[in-house]
Amino acid sequence: MKRVSILGATGSIGCQTVELIEAAPERFEVVALTGGRNVALLAEQAKRLRPRLAVTCHDDCRAELAERLSGNGIEVASGDAAVAEAAQMQADWVMSAIVGAAGLVPGLAAIRQGATLALANKETMVAAGPLVLEAARAHSATLLPVDSEHSAVFQALVGEDRAAVERVILTASGGAFRDWPLERLAAATPEQAATHPNWSMGQRITIDSASMFNKALEVIEARELFGLAPDQVEVVIHPESLIHALVGFNDGALMAHMGAPDMRHAIGYALNWPERRGLPVARLDLAATGSMTFRAPDEARYPALRLARRVMEEGGLAGAAFNAAKEAALDAFLDRRIGFLQMAQVVEQVLDTMSRAGALRVDIPGLDAVLGADAEARERAARISRTDLQTT
Ligand code: NAD
Ligand code: MG
Repeated sequence: MKRVSILGATGSIGCQTVELIEAAPERFEVVALTGGRNVALLAEQAKRLRPRLAVTCHDDCRAELAERLSGNGIEVASGDAAVAEAAQMQADWVMSAIVGAAGLVPGLAAIRQGATLALANKETMVAAGPLVLEAARAHSATLLPVDSEHSAVFQALVGEDRAAVERVILTASGGAFRDWPLERLAAATPEQAATHPNWSMGQRITIDSASMFNKALEVIEARELFGLAPDQVEVVIHPESLIHALVGFNDGALMAHMGAPDMRHAIGYALNWPERRGLPVARLDLAATGSMTFRAPDEARYPALRLARRVMEEGGLAGAAFNAAKEAALDAFLDRRIGFLQMAQVVEQVLDTMSRAGALRVDIPGLDAVLGADAEARERAARISRTDLQTT
């Protein structure tokens, strides 16, 4: 039996992970589940999966969770520290599916107990890639990418010599606004941004797909996960989302990973790794598909991609600041304090300010430095969103 825990069990990735685990109860023993405000769902999941511990990250939700689970023999806890403790409980496999930089500390806790970490939370690698890789090395923990593009790259690299890799190409659907004229984007609303043409995902990553901040994070994530130079990671718009990523080798070969846009593939691959097992995903009918198209991303439309290049060149704490500023800018957009296009402006201003002040420079970022840069960037982005941009 594989002992598994799910951090962020009630989210989009978390629910799909639960579904795959429930489909093979004889193979898995569930150790811990964590969630947020959706206590009813977390309690339902806990009753079905019988973990030893169920945690909500919100202290004000603890009583309700305890009540819903009373008499079930499942321990209940709340708060950020309890989420990290859940991640620390001995398990063989931990799904990191919390959204945002909040996933970093629990992910590190899972790594430090030597678990295989299935990494949906891309923010972990963006904010603290070198730190996370070093922790995985020190604790003999395996990292398995769950982001569909990165799972695709990981699969294309099986049996290959990493030194023969010339480049990695991440595909991007182009998100909700890929066919909108540029001049309409300024007035785009959160509701419009939160619909995705191909993938069904959580609200925040869906809006990040429309702005391409998601792809920007993924470029940095790929560089960190696969040890690439910044110019070895490319992005191509592929509206059909059937090829998830490609790896280009030094002999000119391109290995593409294809499949239906369904996260259960990447989650299931990580869950079953190093084996491959049957998964309940649609099989592609290429003749029915007919054609696939590709085009270069327009950086005027997607400034986030330019910012990702800058972050990789700057290094140090730039990834942590970039991600945190993005999260705060997204909050401001969701609250209708700033417009869709202003998210990138806020992030760029935060990077400019922190870079000028030397606040991003550090040789080997430790966790305290990462969390400090995260907090500063978040605070600066929130402040800019309240003031500067609104007067311009
Ligand atoms: P979601 O919003 O649907 O779910 C997030 C989960 O995290 C929920 O269980 C929520 O309760 C929990 N959570 C939120 N804030 C928290 C906090 N501060 N502390 C502890 N727990 C918290 O998100 P999602 O779409 O499932 O995405 C999860 C992660 O996976 C993100 O990093 C996202 O970028 C990545 N990802 C998602 C998809 C997808 O298809 N949804 C694809 C690729 C990568
Ligand atoms: Mg992805």
